[in-house]
Amino acid sequence: SGKNPVESVSVEFEAKSARDGAWYDVAAFLSHRLFESGDPEVRVRFSGFGAEEDEWINVRKCVRQRSLPCEATECVAVLPGDLILCFQEGKDQALYYDAHVLDAQRRRHDVGGCRCRFLVRYDHDSSEEIVPLRKVCRRPETDYRLQILHAARAAATN
Ligand SMILES: [Zn+2]
Repeated sequence: SGKNPVESVSVEFEAKSARDGAWYDVAAFLSHRLFESGDPEVRVRFSGFGAEEDEWINVRKCVRQRSLPCEATECVAVLPGDLILCFQEGKDQALYYDAHVLDAQRRRHDVGGCRCRFLVRYDHDSSEEIVPLRKVCRRPETDYRLQILHAARAAATN
């Protein structure tokens, strides 16, 4: 159609780069193939990167719906045991990696929003860190928890 493939997909997916093991937003899926193992692979253009950074990526293991940044009221949906996408700031780079929540320290919110702290362990290097909510992206599968909470609040005010 002559349409630029980069503009044809809205940012709804994220993909794990084989280069650094971090997750990036997908700008476009450029083509696909079946790898020798039978697993489908897609050629991915990462959001904010050019063609030289394109990668073939395993669809089953390394492509998924985007993780969601948390608003201040959504900290209640982040629970110990959860897989999250967590912003790890290293000496040279700051990237989004898979991590698991080990513990959630709930604190009273103030004008600045959520003051809760989360003890997380990164999957790729097993390092542990205490992070604020702004570094946590939750998986879309946790949406049902917020729906339950909203329903319960609505019921309580009736
Ligand atoms: Zn909070």
